[in-house]
Amino acid sequence: MSSSRERICPSNRQPTMYPAKDIHVLVLAHPVQGHINPMLQFSKRLTSKGLKVTFLIPISTKKSLNLVNASSIQVEYISDGFDNVEEDKLSTKEYLEHFRLSVSQSLRNFIQKHQSCQENPAKVLIYDSFDSWALDVAIEHGMHGASFFTQSCVVSCIYYLVHQGTVKLPLEAVDGQGRVLCDPPVMSVLGLNDFPSFVADVHKYPAILDIVLGQFSNFRKAKWLLFNTFTELEEELVNWMGNQWSMMTVGPTIPSVYMDKRLEDDTGYGLSLFKPEAEACLRWLDSKPPCSTVYVSFGSLASLGEDQMEELVRGLRSMKSHFLWVVRESEEKKLPRNFLQELGLDDDKKGLVVRWSNQLQVLSHVSVGCFMTHCGWNSTLEALSLGVPMVVMPQWTDQPTNATFIVEVWKVGLRVRANERGVVTGEEIESCVNEIIEGGERGKEIRENSLGWKELAKRAIDEGGSSEKNIQEFVSNVLDLCT
Ligand code: UDP
Repeated sequence: MSSSRERICPSNRQPTMYPAKDIHVLVLAHPVQGHINPMLQFSKRLTSKGLKVTFLIPISTKKSLNLVNASSIQVEYISDGFDNVEEDKLSTKEYLEHFRLSVSQSLRNFIQKHQSCQENPAKVLIYDSFDSWALDVAIEHGMHGASFFTQSCVVSCIYYLVHQGTVKLPLEAVDGQGRVLCDPPVMSVLGLNDFPSFVADVHKYPAILDIVLGQFSNFRKAKWLLFNTFTELEEELVNWMGNQWSMMTVGPTIPSVYMDKRLEDDTGYGLSLFKPEAEACLRWLDSKPPCSTVYVSFGSLASLGEDQMEELVRGLRSMKSHFLWVVRESEEKKLPRNFLQELGLDDDKKGLVVRWSNQLQVLSHVSVGCFMTHCGWNSTLEALSLGVPMVVMPQWTDQPTNATFIVEVWKVGLRVRANERGVVTGEEIESCVNEIIEGGERGKEIRENSLGWKELAKRAIDEGGSSEKNIQEFVSNVLDLCT
């Protein structure tokens, strides 16, 4: 299978401090946006400390990635095996199995070629924990593996406990208050419906359940377990997990310009599966007063029902705030007829709908006062790290669990509640957004808490911070292994 290469480094700027020997690591990303972003950012931290990174993305030539900014990382596209396969005709199970077989072969081919032509080949493969089979390929080739978890510790801990059999499926409450898990104690905030959808409803996504539990099938053979979170955010879970096995928190993996500003040129994620309408968003936001706008996005995968979309439109139309709403192209057909025309074209209009944004630019804009989110883990960390209060509307996967922590534990958001038909009404959306933007009593408290987390997140990744120390330790470990 072939691979193509690309260096996302227009200025060809080299990292400032390569160690004596060029120490190389390979990073294998899982090809969805919420998994590419954190591993790419972690890679940038590694290159800033002198390691050489080759970033592998399994992708078919039918898809394309937009290069958004510069970085010193070598990106290689390897085949995901879907060039001549009609993905739509496959079940999720067939799709995942085809992906596993194809990508493990592409990875094998890549490593063999890399080992035969590099004077100093990589001895470490960092791989997405969802692709646990990559560890076997690494070990086959005499390499060490670092499993990179792109979800929160709480969610990973749940999958671990289910994998171990400590938590049995289907889930059952263990006490009269509907609690399922009381240890570690912070877990007691989770009711049955707050668990990740793959375990809350075991019959709905059995193939994905296998993947998320599979993260723990061989993890003890990995030399490092890296988590995109920071210790202060999930302290109890980090301590609890740290007592069971050795792990490192390395997040939040957010471009340096929004955090510690120590990485020159690190102004955005860099690789996007969607084309952001960045300028249109900024121009429109620039024309709005501070804290006047709600930013609405449900990430790269979630899909709302038509009746939910209609209620969201009702809420956005009637609320006082402005809105900037990301509706992916594949979702546009669910918008009410004439909605876009009704919004108009000038910068004075109440709302702007785009197909994709540069989310970090939007969240850090002074006009944005609230983020209505599906609670993907990256979006959650981004809002926390930029101090933006949230209105949470989780859809599936880890989102209900993240939403519960956002509201109950970190206290940086309000949750909209669905009615008896499972739909969140326009009135409910409007009332939660108003509470935050208008600064009601709870809204004020939430905004203050958000600013507190923003400070802690920045500190974790800045000089001397908990994640920064762990990244440094990881790099030292790699150097020790390779020199
Ligand atoms: N994102 C973006 N523009 C958008 C929507 C999302 O840049 O219009 C980015 C967002 O900043 C985040 C990622 O896409 O880094 C989505 O990851 P997340 O874990 O939040 O959700 P997922 O897409 O995996 O459900």
